[in-house]
Amino acid sequence: MTATSPNADPQELAKFGEIAHHWWDPQGEFRPLHQMNPLRLQWIASHAALRGARVLDVGCGGGILAEAMAREGAQVLGIDLSPKPLAVAELHALEQGVAGVSYREVAVEALAAEQPAAFDVVTCMEMLEHVPDPASVVRACAALVKPGGHVLFSTLNRNTRSYLLAIVAAEQVLRLLPRGTHDHARFIRPSELARFAREAGLQTLGADGMAYNPLTQRFTLTADTGVNYLLACRK
Ligand code: SAH
Repeated sequence: MTATSPNADPQELAKFGEIAHHWWDPQGEFRPLHQMNPLRLQWIASHAALRGARVLDVGCGGGILAEAMAREGAQVLGIDLSPKPLAVAELHALEQGVAGVSYREVAVEALAAEQPAAFDVVTCMEMLEHVPDPASVVRACAALVKPGGHVLFSTLNRNTRSYLLAIVAAEQVLRLLPRGTHDHARFIRPSELARFAREAGLQTLGADGMAYNPLTQRFTLTADTGVNYLLACRK
């Protein structure tokens, strides 16, 4: 990847930019991210200590996860390639008086060249399914974490059920997400993500599913990785 051809899809970045002003509306387009945030924060903390840790959040968007990790005492850098969500994230942290979080518009591959092995924890959540070459992102995350540190991913599995739930139900029936949010072809099977991780020199610690209950409107952890899932890795 070069600076002139980063591993990013301009249409994807524009899509997030257009709705970035709704990022912190718990009932808006990003409602699912708000709903899954407490659960994934707990899951992250179950793998890696956050207090005092240097954490990189890749594809941080408006900062829902990055800010929550900073509130837990981590020193967080959030990176993204869409400028509007980054501006929203910066403003929100300022308004909330959350110290310990900063944001930068930089490609993960470029940061990996600049600051190898600089972070105790790297998180990359709900981002890989928007990127042309997810394996390249996984390699960069692996390069950015210190030996012994954790890389924590979440994304969407690719199968008929994830098509029906994450696209037909979430975008067309329940309208939890705007139409066109996700492209099913870019979803990633846990076995594929685990292979990217191993090829990048990471050890995989295990995958967990996140199940959404539309009645309670809550996500819970489940052994079923068929739709939304998390993968924990260690270098
Ligand atoms: N990780 C955040 C936001 C997820 S939304 C959370 O879970 O709360 C997906 C984000 O990925 C968007 O902010 C989008 O701009 C970003 N993104 C998409 N392609 C990217 C790329 N190639 N590099 C960095 N960020 C990217």
